Amino acid sequence: MPAVTDVLIVGGGPVGLYLGALLLQHGVAVRILEKRTGRNPHTRAIGIHPPALSALDRIGAASPLIARGIPIRRGRAVWLGQEIAHMPFAPVSERYPFVLAVPQPVTEAVLEARLLELDGGALVRGAQVTDMHDDGGRVTADATVAGTRRRFSASLAVGADGANSTVRRLLCVPAAERRYPDHYLMGDFPDSSPYGEDAALFLEAGGIVESFPLPGGVRRWVVRLSRPPDRPDPHLLAGLVGDRTGIALDAGSNSMLSSFGVRSRLAARMVAGRTALIGDAAHEISPIGGQGMNLGWLDAESLAPVILAALHSRPSGADLRRFNASRRRAAAGAKRQAEVNMALGRPLPDGLLRMRNAAIARIGAAPALNAHVARRFTMQ
Ligand SMILES: Cc1cc2nc3c(=O)[nH]c(=O)nc-3n(C[C@H](O)[C@H](O)[C@H](O)COP(=O)(O)OP(=O)(O)OC[C@H]3O[C@@H](n4cnc5c(N)ncnc54)[C@H](O)[C@@H]3O)c2cc1C
Repeated sequence: MPAVTDVLIVGGGPVGLYLGALLLQHGVAVRILEKRTGRNPHTRAIGIHPPALSALDRIGAASPLIARGIPIRRGRAVWLGQEIAHMPFAPVSERYPFVLAVPQPVTEAVLEARLLELDGGALVRGAQVTDMHDDGGRVTADATVAGTRRRFSASLAVGADGANSTVRRLLCVPAAERRYPDHYLMGDFPDSSPYGEDAALFLEAGGIVESFPLPGGVRRWVVRLSRPPDRPDPHLLAGLVGDRTGIALDAGSNSMLSSFGVRSRLAARMVAGRTALIGDAAHEISPIGGQGMNLGWLDAESLAPVILAALHSRPSGADLRRFNASRRRAAAGAKRQAEVNMALGRPLPDGLLRMRNAAIARIGAAPALNAHVARRFTMQ
């Protein structure tokens, strides 16, 4: 006999956990099937933007995250050791006048704790979904759980299973892919910079260096490269940061190192029959600008009322079409913003670099323009 629930969510990453908690709060029975037996230890996302903090507040997760993160209240643009512009986030959102920096494993731990508080059995770990069927009335999913095949049945299903989504593949939803010439080397070190709780972008000729404060006196450094590093190591990263910014990092104290290339993928649609796609399953966006996870939470927030209406026998094709259109528009906008962010970080010859940096300094000196750009950077 299949295990029966109202909504089946495939994927217990940040987006699936958030949607699960949101629906449980409305009395909806939820099962989240997650193939990992433990939490993902990789620190990917660190930036939580103001609209996402408002969304997280709806499940009571904003305060515990704020208690464990660093509020970044402004970004500073630096060139040759001099600040050429700074962008305060304060006037942008009155409620959350900052971007919150929290490592993704901490974010996922807070979301999981909230979910399990609402229903201790909502998350089924070690459950890998391999097949799904939609008979027009219900969705069934087959999963391998601890070597055993189990079947789950639900009124509705949601694929929140990440960039290589099995659900998207099973639904035969194509996803347009674009690859970019940008590569990044990223690592965490004890903070030896003078930037405290500010983000700093170093707009240098060899390519951008981004740096963000993290809890525990740590700072994340991200260096743009034109090709993948031959052998990523903390000495290479510390050397690149030193050469481009003049800031010395202690390679021996590195606590996280990762290198990544960039692509984007947008699913052709976010709804198929009784199943919706959200988060990276629906749209993979370049991490530069830190929007992917935020975008996924905002998908979940706008999908929840559509699910509630459908479960209360008011299924509306118009609601689904609106959800699909508005969230695909949001994803396309985030993808464009990420492309601008990446272009900003590419190496430039001296003349063009001077012109570009002078333009950034002019924007920084014009409060209305600066606030407009701050809104774009903070997803508002
Ligand atoms: C270096 C880097 C930095 C980033 N920085 C930021 C940032 O600052 N801000 C930001 O907003 N975003 C950032 N991102 C993007 C962010 O990490 C993702 O957008 C986010 O993790 C997407 O969440 P998700 O829940 O949709 O997918 P995922 O986090 O990928 O979770 C999907 C889950 O589904 C599970 N799963 C997959 N297949 C199955 C299956 N068949 N059955 C059951 N379970 C399955 C997986 O195990 C996983 O736990 C960054 C990404 C990278 C790589």
